[in-house]
Amino acid sequence: MTEAPVPAGAIDYEVISLLSDLVRIESVNPSLAPSGSGEAAIAGFVADWAHRHGLATEWFGPPQRPSLLVTSFRGEPPDGAVLVLCGHLDTVGLGDQPDPLVPRIDGDRLVGRGAYDMKAGLAAALLACRTAAQLAAADEITGAVIVAAVADEEFASDGVQVVSERLVELGAAGAIVLEPTELAIGVAHKGFVWTRIDIDGVAAHGSRPHLGVDAVMQMGPVLVALGDLDRQLAERGHPLLGPGNLHASLVSGGTEESTIPAHCSLVVERRTLPGETVADVEADVEAVLDACRAADPRLVVTASTTLAREPMETPIDAPVANVLADAVTLASGREPQLAGMSYWADSGFLSAAGIPSVVFGPAGDGAHADHEWVSIASTVTCAEALSATVRAFCR
Ligand SMILES: [Zn+2]
Repeated sequence: MTEAPVPAGAIDYEVISLLSDLVRIESVNPSLAPSGSGEAAIAGFVADWAHRHGLATEWFGPPQRPSLLVTSFRGEPPDGAVLVLCGHLDTVGLGDQPDPLVPRIDGDRLVGRGAYDMKAGLAAALLACRTAAQLAAADEITGAVIVAAVADEEFASDGVQVVSERLVELGAAGAIVLEPTELAIGVAHKGFVWTRIDIDGVAAHGSRPHLGVDAVMQMGPVLVALGDLDRQLAERGHPLLGPGNLHASLVSGGTEESTIPAHCSLVVERRTLPGETVADVEADVEAVLDACRAADPRLVVTASTTLAREPMETPIDAPVANVLADAVTLASGREPQLAGMSYWADSGFLSAAGIPSVVFGPAGDGAHADHEWVSIASTVTCAEALSATVRAFCR
């Protein structure tokens, strides 16, 4: 290993230099790690960078957890197509890696927290926005780029939710969410729904079972029926994403050894396919509970949705997918794979807001793990592909 700190300005590639600057700024999501600084400092850096390069900014969200739009235009958007490049500002906790905020070069790898997920994509997006401003000034394009630099993707995606309405208002015609994809183009991903199921039994002394109703025991048939539902889901799949699924995430109940438990609660996560709605998930859960109620008249059970995130599916012939695919081919010399992504991303919100969206970013490894790195060559290719996309899309 010949890891050495990256001296500021020592790298030829501007995108790598900008990426290194972004890695140096701690932006750990405080909802995940209470000591995290959040997005204020990194958003301030992005805004300064944008202003230095003649770009405009618009702020959203609370000052300590801000999101911002960086636009290649001032005032009203121009007539041509507006492309959104979306990158989150936050990272997960620093983990157990030495000097996670000191970007280091190791061969083709730039090592540091957030390098891969997803400061490399954010750096590439900012440069593409500047390219758009330059091309517009030279009358080579009539459209524009908006970088949505958003907070809180790693926890509740508050950032993308506060900017999506504004992006629609500004006429966004397509969006690229710059999560790492190893230069594949993600045209679909699952959504998810969290359901909390509560059973109310009756507490009693363990020696007097006739006076109690055991809520934990009653959860057994519910779990078995949910397992059956999961097996049914496995029978119908999506061509890019495979089947939907569910799992029992959290279970709790009971108070002490000799007391029949009066309460049991269960949290279930269902991963949904494009076309499956929250109402569909709720109906499936209700059918499971109805069957359990029919089998056990003493069962008192309720279910509620605690969080839902939309799936995404963008037709592969949508302009944003098409144009990006050509641009990646141009930049990398290889036709990119159009694929389903295994994870959920902010693209779920943008797509639900009516903006055709894809997920695209560089190669690397160690997202959310202890040794995070991004490929330098692939980050450069990502930046080149975004610039080529701007030329062809923003017309
Ligand atoms: Zn990410």
